[in-house]
Amino acid sequence: MAALSIFRALRKRAIPSFSPSSSSSFSHGTAISRFVSTLVLAEHEGGSVKTSSVSAVAAAKAISEENSISVLLAGSGPSLHEAASHAASCHPSISQVLVADSDKLAYPLAEPWAELVHLVQQEGGYSHIIAASSSFGKNVLPRVAALLDVSPVTDVIEISGPQLFVRPIYAGNALCTVRYAGANPCMLTIRSTSFPVAPISADSKCNTAPVTQVDLSTFIEVTLGKSRYLNHSSQETERPDLGNARVVVTGGRALKSAENFKLIEKLAEKLGAAVGATRAAVDAGFVPNELQVGQTGKIVAPELYMAFGVSGAIQHLAGMRDSKFIVAVNKDADAPIFQVADYGLVGDLFEIIPELLEKLPEKK
Ligand SMILES: Cc1cc2nc3c(=O)[nH]c(=O)nc-3n(C[C@H](O)[C@H](O)[C@H](O)COP(=O)(O)OP(=O)(O)OC[C@H]3O[C@@H](n4cnc5c(N)ncnc54)[C@H](O)[C@@H]3O)c2cc1C
Repeated sequence: MAALSIFRALRKRAIPSFSPSSSSSFSHGTAISRFVSTLVLAEHEGGSVKTSSVSAVAAAKAISEENSISVLLAGSGPSLHEAASHAASCHPSISQVLVADSDKLAYPLAEPWAELVHLVQQEGGYSHIIAASSSFGKNVLPRVAALLDVSPVTDVIEISGPQLFVRPIYAGNALCTVRYAGANPCMLTIRSTSFPVAPISADSKCNTAPVTQVDLSTFIEVTLGKSRYLNHSSQETERPDLGNARVVVTGGRALKSAENFKLIEKLAEKLGAAVGATRAAVDAGFVPNELQVGQTGKIVAPELYMAFGVSGAIQHLAGMRDSKFIVAVNKDADAPIFQVADYGLVGDLFEIIPELLEKLPEKK
């Protein structure tokens, strides 16, 4: 096991309990080099690097100011190369962009990706490998860790030193400080909401990192056939992505039906917000499960989180308690959601949402 020390703190909101002094020259255990170089496994879509992957770069930067950061992109076709150009200028700390262009890597399947990262690690000898804690990162990273025979540290929310990380445990009710004492590379998944990045404007002046093709001549996809890409389905919507939205409006079981849930959707539309749901609302079929927030759903930390008819079960809080402002509307004054809410309103959502819809100005 990589964990050497654990500090726990039960608390109302996610406030780190332990702040060890950080030092970029910190060194402990076996085979940990003072030179820090990080490989970031990046996801891309529509010719752009995903914001969660840029957050992984921000996390790499937090490991050490002197970190040499390489971003690895894989896929095939023109959108990969567009994404590579985007990656080269999306964060000033990126030292180089590595591009693996192959039909075998056209889809982000764990098996070929793991072989790829293994190959790139053998060439580059990175001290750290980081991915966002997305479905992709959670899929690929453990497989790579097994190939490299190291133990990954997952869901990191704070980096206190090159081998010292904070991660939530017990559905976010306690924070655990983990010292990685294994061999290189130290592998992490990070919660992107804990490493926010400023939106990149088109006219922003940013260094452009060199883009290098990965030599795939020795790349053997030995695991071919273990999984196959079938298709990708997602809802066509103009709403912001739940994982990155500034405002999230969430509805719970109290909405009673998919028809009534449209009240939440209308409110989200007026506020330019993403829609979230509790597991009870998802299980009842009001909305698809990609909208579920919580321990077994998405982890969000928007500037404003509005919860309507949500009891505040521990598993739901695990996905939203780090939001900057939490507003809760519930007709039960003792609902646990009020313990984490910054603003609470005891009332009936079927009266309050229509009133909000009437009084809020139209979205420009
Ligand atoms: C292993 C595991 C994982 C889980 N993962 C998740 C997860 O990821 N996300 C998640 O959300 N849950 C998760 N759950 C389920 C969780 O425990 C709760 O059951 C769920 O969050 C409850 O959803 P809810 O608040 O919508 O429903 P309820 O708990 O039924 O609460 C409904 C609330 O609405 C209020 N209400 C009712 N009518 C009105 C009204 N007209 N106006 C205003 N308020 C009203 C009630 O007072 C009540 O507080 C998980 C459970 C387990 C065991």
